[in-house]
Order: sequence, then C-alpha cells, then structure tokens
Amino acid sequence: MTETSTSTRERELDGIRMQVEGERDRLQHELDQLRSDGGGRDDAHFHEHPTDHAGEMEEHDRQLAIRENLDQMFSQCQDALGRLERGEYGICRSCGQEIDIERLKALPYATKCIPCKEARRD
Ligand SMILES: [Zn+2]
Repeated sequence: MTETSTSTRERELDGIRMQVEGERDRLQHELDQLRSDGGGRDDAHFHEHPTDHAGEMEEHDRQLAIRENLDQMFSQCQDALGRLERGEYGICRSCGQEIDIERLKALPYATKCIPCKEARRD
C-alpha cells in the first residue's frame, strides 16, 4: 500500500475545500452582481409617490439584508479556506481536538466540535 501517505481525513478535507471554494466563487459572483445593480441610482425615483417610496425603502432594506447575509457567508468561506491553508481547519477552537469529519461535511464552517458547541465553551 503506497496510498497511506494521504489519510482518509485529508482526502475528505480536500473535498470540503473544493466545495467551499465553489461556494465562495458563487457568493463572490452574487456580491458583484448586487454591487453593480445597486450602486448610484437609488435617488433617481425618490419623489412624488409616498406609497411607492415606502415600497422602495422596503426593497432597499431587503437588498441590504441579502447583501449582509452574502457578505457574512463570504467571510465564513474565506475564513475556512484560510484555516485550510494554515492546516488549522477542522481543529476545535476551544479544546484543540479534531472536529468530526461528518460534522464538517454537514457544516464546513464549523469551528468547534460538537461537545464544545453544546457546552458553549469559548
Ligand atoms: Zn472542542
């Protein structure tokens, strides 16, 4: 057996990295689109119809919420990829133990193992 140099866990982490990279690229694309849609013309039709005005504010708030959400997910991706590169990925931030691979597959941005998460240790 010459394949033992790469452990199963490393292979699994590789798969997770590709998944997170794909997710990051998708989020980057969506953020780019939101930026090019949103910028600069917000004031153009802010007059005459108070009811429309309210509707536009809601739409504006909604867009902002979506963008904040995307921003947050994007930084989670960046954070996870950074930890993968530094070899810190999949290590519990609280107790230093390896986080279960099944947990990482379900939640690639997890920074704590299940026992720590449940105990809310920091
Ligand atoms: Zn832990």
